[in-house]
Amino acid sequence: MMLPNTPKAGRLHIGIAGRVNVGKSSFLNMLAGQDVAITSAIPGTTTDVVEKTMELLPLGPVTLIDTAGLDDSSDLGAQRIEMSKKALRRADILTIVVTPDAWSGHEDDLVNEARAAKVPVLVVINKTDLKEPSPDFLSLIDVKRLAWVSGSSTASGEGLRQAFKDAVRGLLPTLYTAPPSLLGDLLPAGGLAVLVVPIDLGAPAGRLIVPQVQALRDLLDNDAGALVVKDREYAATLARLKTPPDLVVCDSQVVARVVADTPRDVPLTTFSILFARFKGELDGLARGAGVLNHLRPGDRILIAEGCSHHPLEDDIGRVKIPRWLRQFAGCELTIDNCAGHDFPLNIADYRLVIHCGGCVMTRQEMVSRMGEAAAARVQMTNYGLAISVLQGVLERALSPFPNAMEAYRGVL
Ligand code: SF4
Repeated sequence: MMLPNTPKAGRLHIGIAGRVNVGKSSFLNMLAGQDVAITSAIPGTTTDVVEKTMELLPLGPVTLIDTAGLDDSSDLGAQRIEMSKKALRRADILTIVVTPDAWSGHEDDLVNEARAAKVPVLVVINKTDLKEPSPDFLSLIDVKRLAWVSGSSTASGEGLRQAFKDAVRGLLPTLYTAPPSLLGDLLPAGGLAVLVVPIDLGAPAGRLIVPQVQALRDLLDNDAGALVVKDREYAATLARLKTPPDLVVCDSQVVARVVADTPRDVPLTTFSILFARFKGELDGLARGAGVLNHLRPGDRILIAEGCSHHPLEDDIGRVKIPRWLRQFAGCELTIDNCAGHDFPLNIADYRLVIHCGGCVMTRQEMVSRMGEAAAARVQMTNYGLAISVLQGVLERALSPFPNAMEAYRGVL
């Protein structure tokens, strides 16, 4: 499989939302410079979520997510609205398209949800070729402390496109002020990390997977070196080093073996734990991992994956983790799976969510899922943390992260 030039998770995701017939799809087509979505004067023309990946210079690679109208009252309207809301969870920036002088509770709901998820909002006042927005309307948007641009996505698109790009550039600092490091901050400049990468049936042919590539790049960006080795050769390779490495990072599925082969004073963690910190909030996920030590008969657990794939015979999410969970808990559990964008809305029914590393998800999407779980008072953890608990080595794998260790132990 060819990797796209820019991983999906590395693109700026821009959600486009609003009521029916405000010109969302025209706006998407104008930005894309081509007819990506069908447009018409008939309300509710967009029934499915439409995604368009493109270079939007000078912003760089973006994914535009066009959604169905949030006041769609047709027979399938409720389902379309639900799909649209799910899609909007992936947005780093939310664009609310409105027509001049038309603001309702639907727009307020969008703003409130975006603010709760810490997603910046940009209002696009469209169709100004038909009517200019009144001063009162613009004041209303200003009072709500929302950035806005206005224009027409049909008659004079170029002006609106440029204003939109300038406004998005103005919002970027609010998104990327403090990007967490993947692992470069865990070792000194000139340091050495050993990455233990199993090449088994689940590994793609001829390449490393995205998390491993990202780890290598982050080490290079931080002037550190990397030594990549399979689990079988790890102990022998370690023995050949004159000085121990500054950090060992391994795949969660071989963590027990790597822990056994690593001197106690060498910091060690897993790719999943690194991505827990990078994608979401490690302390919260570590706290969720603590739930595994207190499972009760009948507890319901959701195993969630960020992308869909054909399950392997010994699939990690559908076979291995459920088997280890039942062995570890020593009692009957109800275990459900979900994949891709189908994160369920009935999250409150679960005692715990165990999420994959989410390598193809945006950080915003992972944070949003954690927020939904937290709002429902459901703990969440991830595969790597869970596997390390189930194999009795989580405290060792959390050793570089003392706060997360405390959270796991229930101190925080
Ligand atoms: S299941 Fe999760 S970790 Fe695995 S490839 Fe998909 S998004 Fe990445």
